[in-house]
Amino acid sequence: MKIPSLLVASALLLGAAPARAAGPLKVIGTTEDLASIAREVAGDKASVESLSRGYQDPHFVEAKPSFVLKLNKADLLIAVGRELEIGWLPPLITQSRNAKIQPGGEGYLDASLTARILEMPTGQLTRAMGDVHPSGNPHFWLDPENGKHVAKAVAEKLSELDHANASYYAQREADFEKRLTEAEARWTAMIAPYRGTKVVTYHRSWPNFAEHFGLEVIGYVEPKPGIPPSPSHTIDVINAMKRQNVKIILVEPYFDLKTPDSIARETGAKVLVMPPSVGGEKEITDYIKLFDYDLKLLTDAIKATK
Ligand SMILES: [Zn+2]
Repeated sequence: MKIPSLLVASALLLGAAPARAAGPLKVIGTTEDLASIAREVAGDKASVESLSRGYQDPHFVEAKPSFVLKLNKADLLIAVGRELEIGWLPPLITQSRNAKIQPGGEGYLDASLTARILEMPTGQLTRAMGDVHPSGNPHFWLDPENGKHVAKAVAEKLSELDHANASYYAQREADFEKRLTEAEARWTAMIAPYRGTKVVTYHRSWPNFAEHFGLEVIGYVEPKPGIPPSPSHTIDVINAMKRQNVKIILVEPYFDLKTPDSIARETGAKVLVMPPSVGGEKEITDYIKLFDYDLKLLTDAIKATK
């Protein structure tokens, strides 16, 4: 990714002043999930934007010059972390020339630090063979309990940056947590008859979701996270699905359906395109609606396979 130097130069001229101007805080989330949670906490005390869109693969976002402009003016950058954005975010942060939002700066929040992270590597950290999850699974926002952890961290960070409104952020965070807990009771009831259902997923996006809602993921269309399907691995997946009578293949909206469709033909399974992020479908306008949408989609599909 290359950003024309003229645009970077104009970005610097437009917003180089480090001191925060009066008015709402400018908050940037790398994903729409983080932006949604930040909006819940920040209310009208901040303007919140997302860099990526929910229908994009968050590992591989096409960086645009406009991202540099946004980062240059940001008071707070919230990243998913665990190297999810390593392929596109670091050069943008550098080019923003905004000291506050550099990793370690007061305006940088790594959302993964307080979240429950699954699939932590044992032994040496490595991106060997192209595995894009070298420091634990970064798709942790798909457990609503982690949504609460992120909201708490955002509230603390906003209070640090804008101390005068600390009680406002704390109250908004408590209210969000309460609504999320109420929604969780509804989701738990929806999925209860289907706990233990075995599924295959395209990418390893769903371990936190599966843990929270009681699904059993028995395999992946990708041989490793970030590695495209191969014929021999596909045969292994088909055999495992036949052995265990698996009837659902979950596919994130940004993957090609060719391999999932061929696996479905061989196994009689159903391919379900299930968005892992806010904005993955136009009706998924916030974090709570993401789970409303996915659980309805999933439970309807499981019902249809019975
Ligand atoms: Zn991933």
